[in-house]
Amino acid sequence: MENQFSLDASIRNAYLDALGIQQWHSRDASSDDQATAETHVVDQTVQEKLNSPSPQPVDVPVSRVDVEKISRMDLSSLEFHVKSCDACDLHKTRKQTVFGVGHHKADWLIIGEAPGADEDREGEPFVGRAGQLLTQMLRAIGLTREEVFIANILKCRPPNNRDPKQEEVNACNAYLNQQIDLLEPKIILALGRIAAQSLLQSDLPIGKMRGKLYHLETKNIPVVVTYHPAYLLRSPKEKRKVWEDLKFSRQQVIT
Ligand code: URA
Repeated sequence: MENQFSLDASIRNAYLDALGIQQWHSRDASSDDQATAETHVVDQTVQEKLNSPSPQPVDVPVSRVDVEKISRMDLSSLEFHVKSCDACDLHKTRKQTVFGVGHHKADWLIIGEAPGADEDREGEPFVGRAGQLLTQMLRAIGLTREEVFIANILKCRPPNNRDPKQEEVNACNAYLNQQIDLLEPKIILALGRIAAQSLLQSDLPIGKMRGKLYHLETKNIPVVVTYHPAYLLRSPKEKRKVWEDLKFSRQQVIT
């Protein structure tokens, strides 16, 4: 799916204002993107260059997820299958599963952590306050929610929004993997520490992970890490860095 990024400048400016991003007008129209590229280290290969130990394997029960069967499903059958998943304890406390939403031929796959209370109620990712900010972030680079695909590491809400447990991430992994295989996105944007660490098998803090281009080890899909919109709601000063990450991601799609 081709994105034209042709959002009218005044609309784009309005979204940037909503993001609280002060705009600088450069003499050379391309210099902003250029500057962005320079703040990012391009083509960092996962694991090799992270130079950090992989997370320790956790002693988890063998997942009840049938990976082989899942690898033959299309997105609709996968979504249907996920609805009745009981591979981890989160099925006991969820209202409903949150599979993901968006275009099935999206260039962009946005991956968050896990559904919160709003998402658990609505069955759709990123519909709460953080979701509204995500929508504005996407608009700022000329994308609508309908053009991208939005998913989470976990398909079920952890009680009280606690961090996902490793066994929950492992149990859900085959679903996200199959989503990635089917969507074949041109870019994956990992939102926040949990998404970044899980996808890239790292235990580095997010501040050390962002600003580089990664590739999913087995799939050769570019991954950019940025702050979670919920964090931006608490720390609006970091919005400028996220704006840089978004522009950097867009460059990967265009080139
Ligand atoms: N936070 C996430 O990481 N995902 C959602 O879907 C909602 C909030």
